[in-house]
Amino acid sequence: MPELTHAKIHFNDQGIPFASDFDDVYFSDGGGMAETDYVFLKQNALPQRWQTHPQSAFHIIETGFGTGANFLLTWLRFRQYRRQYPKAHCQRLYFSSVEKYPLSHADLTRALATHSELSELCQLLLDAYPLCVAGCHRLSFDQDTVLLDLWFGDVESVLPQLVAPCDAIYLDGFAPSKNPDMWQQSLFNQLARLSQAGCSVSTFTAAGLVKRGLQQAGFTVTKVKGFGRKREMLTALMHKPVTKTVLPHSEVTIIGGGIASICTALALTQRGIAVHLLCEDAEVASQASQNRQGAVYPNLHANLTDDSQLHAQAFLYARLFYQRWQQQGLDFAMDWCGVVHLASTVQLQQRQDKLISKALWPRELVHAVDADTASAIAGLELLLNGIYYPLAGWLNPQQFCRQALHYLQQQSSFKVSLACQIHHIKRQNNIWLLHSNSDIKTTESLVLACGSKLAMFSQTATLPLNKIRGQVSHVQNSAMAPLKTVLCHKGYITPQWQGLHCVGATFDRNATEAFIYDADNAENLQLVNEQLQQPTWFSSSTIDGAAAAFRATLPDRLPLLGQTNAQDNLYLIGGLGARGIMLSPLLAEALACQICQEPLPLSQQLCQRLSPLRFQAETDIQEPA
Ligand code: SAM
Repeated sequence: MPELTHAKIHFNDQGIPFASDFDDVYFSDGGGMAETDYVFLKQNALPQRWQTHPQSAFHIIETGFGTGANFLLTWLRFRQYRRQYPKAHCQRLYFSSVEKYPLSHADLTRALATHSELSELCQLLLDAYPLCVAGCHRLSFDQDTVLLDLWFGDVESVLPQLVAPCDAIYLDGFAPSKNPDMWQQSLFNQLARLSQAGCSVSTFTAAGLVKRGLQQAGFTVTKVKGFGRKREMLTALMHKPVTKTVLPHSEVTIIGGGIASICTALALTQRGIAVHLLCEDAEVASQASQNRQGAVYPNLHANLTDDSQLHAQAFLYARLFYQRWQQQGLDFAMDWCGVVHLASTVQLQQRQDKLISKALWPRELVHAVDADTASAIAGLELLLNGIYYPLAGWLNPQQFCRQALHYLQQQSSFKVSLACQIHHIKRQNNIWLLHSNSDIKTTESLVLACGSKLAMFSQTATLPLNKIRGQVSHVQNSAMAPLKTVLCHKGYITPQWQGLHCVGATFDRNATEAFIYDADNAENLQLVNEQLQQPTWFSSSTIDGAAAAFRATLPDRLPLLGQTNAQDNLYLIGGLGARGIMLSPLLAEALACQICQEPLPLSQQLCQRLSPLRFQAETDIQEPA
């Protein structure tokens, strides 16, 4: 995928943004929002159609996000509609918009200043507006009822990555003569593929090539009166046989009590699905999610590999996700204090040099720091150069999970069974039977989110899941007290929280029990000394506890997400390794969308890479070196 660049824009005397490279306006200076209202809402029969929409979510696809004006007005109308019709069936709006040249935050701020009537929504959009990173950025507003999927990339490459059908389309490239890429036959064909029966299209242009292109793709096109002084514009409709809508699942049982399970429960209950969560321990987050302070930062590659695409997307999503839940009252420790990753080995130095010199990632996400700068950022004298993730940090997943469980327990559609160990599962008459020692539970749909135990069932036994025991030491140490950021080398050290640093973590591929060993605490401290050559740091430290658990990974190091091999309504989320805090929010959101047949915040390509089906044909899986 090519690099992304920000839009080059300038503003006219009325403050209207112009695209310098396209010599065209983002929105007209005549009517401002009135044109958007006329061309895109009215001509798609919105908001009226929402009142009778038979599904719980309405999906709009837009070509050309630009300043987000169309999105903002649609959001406002949807918000007004929900207030007016709180009992209507359709209660969620998905707005998927594609943009190849995202405005910078500063330009967007200036462009949106003209819409004084929308200032609250403009500010919320600006607060969540993503960095210039290719891929899908899911932004959630109004308690997850308005979901904006901002797909940064060329429309030609993005549209084939979308799967969920849409109900309305806003065609809003620059004028066809100035921006032919946005009006190609392949684009109309993709949109026809994505259209449900009855999907409507509108666009400000009446150009013949657009009319013919839409017709050729299968739409019925009509010319209507244009906005203001414009003579004509186009609308279109997709006539297709109505495909039988599969009833969405009404109840889902989740096996697992860690962060992936909790995030999945949140994403499903937000969509009105009844959830039963089964946790084998007496309390949730007692195993791999029990960390006091888990570092949260993406593992980026110099090229846009699937792994780094996933990491970048998941990281940016996780930040917004946890911030949103904290604002909604969940009380858990988290600090976006930055992460400094020191180049403590020659290989690491080479990898970091390559990462920075390729300049794929925006500076706000990651940049190089020399030892002096790293020292100033971290608050301790460091001897090595490295890279810095200013937006990264740490959080306490156990507190998050327990707080989130408390929130979930207040929802009437949620129940939890603790100390409930399921030892085998069986599909019978379209129902899953879940056998525990005391009873057999039943469920229509089942999610396995049980970490290192994911492969314990006969249906999942062939998955090549590795269990790697890791121990984190809790360390009291005055020399390290000034540390302000998370410090990574081969392992990591967190800034102190409640008087203790987390220092970790060991890798033990042979363990079968997650015991805590004194030797592992010594190993953690020794690793710091070896890697960072700072013998004074831990010479006077006291170990005050430790935590050990199994990380579950797959040989290709990618997580597992989605349905298993032909097992009806059996979904997996796992293989998150040491990255559960960062990966779970986005993957759980994607899983809930898959279960509810709603737009996914992941490309089709990434979904295929993560699918459990990828192991079906493999007989000899090699570990990467
Ligand atoms: N809907 C926008 C709004 O509400 O502000 C205005 C969109 S503006 C008229 C057209 C947009 O299409 C620009 O933001 C431009 O960067 C984007 N664009 C142009 N060529 C593109 C391409 N090949 N792929 C994706 N987006 C493209």
